[in-house]
Amino acid sequence: MRGAVLKEYGEPLEIQTRDVPKIASDEVLIETEACGICRSDWHGWQGDYAWLDGGAVTKGNILGHEPAGEIIGVGDDVTNFSEGEKVVVPFNIVCGRCQKCRDGKSHMCENILHYGFDDDAQPGAFSTHIRVPNADFNLARIPDGISAHEMAGLGCRYITAYHAIADRSGIEAGDWVVIHGCGGIGLSAIDVASALGGNVIAVDIQDDKLSMAEEMGAVEQVNGADVEDVPKAIRDITDGGAQISVDGLGIRTTCLNSIRSVEPTGTHVQIGITSADEKGRIDMPIDYMLHSEIDCITAKGFQPHRYDEIFRLMEHNKIQPQNLVTKHVSLDDINDRLEAMTNFETKGVEVITEFD
Ligand SMILES: [Zn+2]
Ligand SMILES: [Zn+2]
Repeated sequence: MRGAVLKEYGEPLEIQTRDVPKIASDEVLIETEACGICRSDWHGWQGDYAWLDGGAVTKGNILGHEPAGEIIGVGDDVTNFSEGEKVVVPFNIVCGRCQKCRDGKSHMCENILHYGFDDDAQPGAFSTHIRVPNADFNLARIPDGISAHEMAGLGCRYITAYHAIADRSGIEAGDWVVIHGCGGIGLSAIDVASALGGNVIAVDIQDDKLSMAEEMGAVEQVNGADVEDVPKAIRDITDGGAQISVDGLGIRTTCLNSIRSVEPTGTHVQIGITSADEKGRIDMPIDYMLHSEIDCITAKGFQPHRYDEIFRLMEHNKIQPQNLVTKHVSLDDINDRLEAMTNFETKGVEVITEFD
């Protein structure tokens, strides 16, 4: 098989040929048809996450964690899936047996693995083939009429945005919801928040991303480069502050702008991951938050068994994750596309659809 391997942080990934993985009895083998290129791949490539317990991604690892494809091999103990079926694979692979899994919080599984980030235990999906452990629990069948190419954002960005807005934010119909940063995860959050009755205000410093935000359902757009004080602009639009505000980028400016965009008793949602400038740490105005009872919540991934919720919303056109996909590229383009992310030149979700 062919895969894109991290050799040195910030240096081009190297396309290598490796043996197709052997599968255990609970696993399936997938021929990758699509894999989204996510900013968390970019963070891994940069050597970020060094400040987390798990550390930076180990060199020698294949990156990539938003795959969809066709099952071409099925372990003896797998009962829910068979060869030839098209599936989407979450970036968080869970055990289904630990206490967190049994409590319905499998996205916080005690034995969790992440494609592309957990070394040899779970090589990533910028490759022609991947194996899926505990396949009965982790996989989701793609409904008829939807292609794997359209589903590649559902492995990470969309499910995190869905979990953040639908489960964690406390959204109610008519709420003002601000999204700071209209990259893949920000646009996903716009799609979900609009479907759930939120009035979404999109904030970015690039007009083309704001136009896409409008297409995804944002009712107001603020170009942060054109206004002196973004939170003040939000408070003016919302007559005092939004009920919910999301940092979908993870830099100090967007995080603090988000906190200051909400009304007293509002909620700040952090789903952007920080970079080398912040190294996982952003000073928050705690006294201001306390005096205004501003909540700060976070979200990461979701429980793999819940894909049906998303598919039902898609079936009736309440959400359109497929509209996030802006570009199909080849595995050999990966370094060009990661470089483009460095300069924020990508728009929406770019997907690898050619692997050989
Ligand atoms: Zn990701
Ligand atoms: Zn578990």
